[in-house]
Amino acid sequence: MTPDDFKRRTKAFALRGIRLAEALPKSMTAQVVAKQLLRCTTSVGANYRAACRAKSRADFIAKMRIVEEECDESLYWMELLVESGHVESGRLEDLKKEADEILSLVVASIRTARSRKQSPIPNPQSPIPNCGKDGHMKAAVFHGKDVGLKIEDIPVPQIGAGQILVKVAACGACHTDLHYIDHGVPTFKKPPIVLGHEASGTVEEVGAEVTNVTKGQRVLIPAVLTCGRCMFCRMGRENICAEMKMLGNHFDGAYAEYVAVPAKDVLDLPESIPLAEASIIADAISTPYHAVKNRARVQPGDRVVVFGCGGVGINAVQLAAAVGAYVIAVDINERKLEWAAEFGAAKTINAGQVERVSKEIKKLTGGGADIAMEVIGNPRTIEEAFECVRVGGRLCVVGYTHEAISVVAGKIMFKEIEVVGSLGCRPVDYVPLMRMVEQGRIDLKRLVTHRFSLDEIGQAFEVMKEGLSLRSIVVP
Ligand SMILES: [Zn+2]
Ligand SMILES: [Zn+2]
Repeated sequence: MTPDDFKRRTKAFALRGIRLAEALPKSMTAQVVAKQLLRCTTSVGANYRAACRAKSRADFIAKMRIVEEECDESLYWMELLVESGHVESGRLEDLKKEADEILSLVVASIRTARSRKQSPIPNPQSPIPNCGKDGHMKAAVFHGKDVGLKIEDIPVPQIGAGQILVKVAACGACHTDLHYIDHGVPTFKKPPIVLGHEASGTVEEVGAEVTNVTKGQRVLIPAVLTCGRCMFCRMGRENICAEMKMLGNHFDGAYAEYVAVPAKDVLDLPESIPLAEASIIADAISTPYHAVKNRARVQPGDRVVVFGCGGVGINAVQLAAAVGAYVIAVDINERKLEWAAEFGAAKTINAGQVERVSKEIKKLTGGGADIAMEVIGNPRTIEEAFECVRVGGRLCVVGYTHEAISVVAGKIMFKEIEVVGSLGCRPVDYVPLMRMVEQGRIDLKRLVTHRFSLDEIGQAFEVMKEGLSLRSIVVP
């Protein structure tokens, strides 16, 4: 073996070391990194061992880059190993292959460990589910912004002792999914992940310790699952649970034939509510319900402005109107404003056709609205909503944005304006909400404007982007 051969091989080994170190979680301590690396060094990896004395993962990568560029240290070690008879030069090829195999095993085991950590209540002892095709199911798997959604055959999820497997009847397409798919908002569980957080279905299998639901039961799965133990849960404010886990974000969601969820979180769906359409109660209706009732605290006779009449906003309109408020709906899409009028808005304003919405509102209400609700998540609209509130009024922010807003703080003080946020919905609110659906005060069927199969899921997001839908459901 010539020094050039050594050099080439050393470069290859160093590169593999760097690849492995980069695949390891950043949070790993230097010792754990070293341990993982030692597992795939074999005897030719003297260079690895030297570098394993590194202070951190970053330090190790930096050292390996030097080894890769200079080759000095490893060349020395490699020659030493051959000279000392520890390694025959002819065996180097075999060892290289071995190191490669071990490397791929380590990377695979890290991936599995990561996904196990992020799945709720894993139970490796539970049997392979006896459903789907040979324990497999169809799902829309999200592979990150660049690849997007792919329809794949994946294993039916295994359930833990406290979990149930739900055969998905439908899952609503939400704007939040679009944030992940198109806008690069990261999901908590790294892709690949099954998205979808607005689902209903029937119980297919129950875990060994489940007592509150039975096989065949119709259930609604709340979009966000709560811990029931943290300070906020104990205060009755489960929607801001410190340990909240969201379906299709923290763990695999319901754009699939089956989904595994903790049994304690699901709600019984009355027979009178259509199963597939019921899915949208889980977010598109529950979120504005909590906002209207608990956060904006809308009362009969209140003059309420709702900014944004999409899937969630239209229900803020519908619920506020059902409570007896005078609702003014604001949007830039004429079709959505027509819908808002159909769902109970007394007045609609096309924001694209007036100079300033707040001016119009002040004119209409003689000084400002009692309550303004922003259901878009646009900083400029939130500012405009703030401006249209009367003295002593309230602004309720339901839309999400990571950007800052600019308001004159003195107005909050001098006009005694209340600014409140609203996030999701508490479990306790679902029962009265379902009663409103049963009474026909919330029209589910009219809200669901489109239905798509899993294969057509892309179209659900297309019609959403075009502003053509109120709510689309995906029926697996
Ligand atoms: Zn949603
Ligand atoms: Zn909690």
